[in-house]
Amino acid sequence: MQYRKDKKSGNELSVLGFGCMRFPRKGGRHSAGSQNFSAIDLKKTEQLLMEAVEQGVNYFDTAYLYPKSEESVGTVFEKNNVREKVYIATKLPLIFCHNRNDFDRFFTKSLDRLKTSYIDYFLLHMLTNFNQWEQLRAWGVESWITEQKKLGKIRYIGFSYHGSLQEFLKIIDSYPWEFTQIQYNYSDENFQAGITGLKKAAETMPVIIMEPLLGGKLATGLPEKAVQLFKNANPTLSPAAWALNWIWNQIEATVILSGMNTLEQLHENVQTANNAVPGLLSTEDMTVFQKVREVLNSTYKIHCTGCNYCMPCSHGVNIPACFSAYNTSFALGMSLGMQQYTTSTAVTSKQTHGASLCTKCGACETHCPQHLPIREHLEQVRKRMEPWWFRFGVRTARIFLGHSRAKNS
Ligand code: SF4
Ligand code: SF4
Repeated sequence: MQYRKDKKSGNELSVLGFGCMRFPRKGGRHSAGSQNFSAIDLKKTEQLLMEAVEQGVNYFDTAYLYPKSEESVGTVFEKNNVREKVYIATKLPLIFCHNRNDFDRFFTKSLDRLKTSYIDYFLLHMLTNFNQWEQLRAWGVESWITEQKKLGKIRYIGFSYHGSLQEFLKIIDSYPWEFTQIQYNYSDENFQAGITGLKKAAETMPVIIMEPLLGGKLATGLPEKAVQLFKNANPTLSPAAWALNWIWNQIEATVILSGMNTLEQLHENVQTANNAVPGLLSTEDMTVFQKVREVLNSTYKIHCTGCNYCMPCSHGVNIPACFSAYNTSFALGMSLGMQQYTTSTAVTSKQTHGASLCTKCGACETHCPQHLPIREHLEQVRKRMEPWWFRFGVRTARIFLGHSRAKNS
């Protein structure tokens, strides 16, 4: 394992961090659009987390908002007595915070779930603009942080970010942050904080990278043409390894978070991380990325990462599943896209989850870290994935199955 120094604290952080958002679940892996948040497979999760520790991973990133994640991390680390060997990062759910009491309430709950008396790296979850930060200040977040640090409950304070570069630069200049977490991958180096934000932040603080594989798309969801480009350049590296190397090539990235949910993925990422030194890519490699980027731009129409933050929709739309199937219809063909759409939105069942259920209320859009115009995109999905012949077929199937008059209830 390679380590990079956190320039604020002097901590040596493993270049590969464990993203704890998508642990293995009973009955199958967590996938885009999955609404089953209840049953984490704790045995498999323990195997994964402890193997990661064994392999030298020392940074574990969870959040109050990740279903059952803090509890699982806390249980596993307490049971295996490794709390002092690892750095735990977790996050304050800003969407639920309206005053200082809320900061206390959620933080205490996180400590409790994680079975610990302190958090190494504590983040304000999902800042998106400077006004939001100003509002938190008005609610006393700065003195609250100072107090928690004095009590030794927070070691280092940072924020995760999903907004424009301009707002990011204002936020990092306005407070003595000790780290930050941004979305960054080769598919678009200027998205959100992007490369400019990364370089600017890295001058004074460690930068943790999230979504290096764009919710798995850059690992297993690439169009065949893009996979071939990577294979032709280096048949021994997987698309995921290429994507991680692109980031590790840059000295400014301290830790890359990867949400690994099989031992195979973990071992592959660890192997890649063992050689993760800045400057590892050649000019020829960078040309390959440029070509892959061109393929991606021409195939993926909706840049949804499958994070599920917009869910649940009160009208039953499975938003990430709709977008995933729509993208598949361009990347891998209409037939596969339709197949995916039919199964993941359960269009022939009593309770369906398709795009046509959207009432355009807009509630989901305020939660999307990618700032996607969800309503507009669902309209595109509806037009492409629910043509007249499809609706006719579905109506016939529903009558046959006895769901003709069933509504989502
Ligand atoms: S805009 Fe559509 S998808 Fe979003 S919450 Fe409202 S009904 Fe659901
Ligand atoms: S919040 Fe945005 S990126 Fe995340 S699943 Fe929903 S639409 Fe996709």
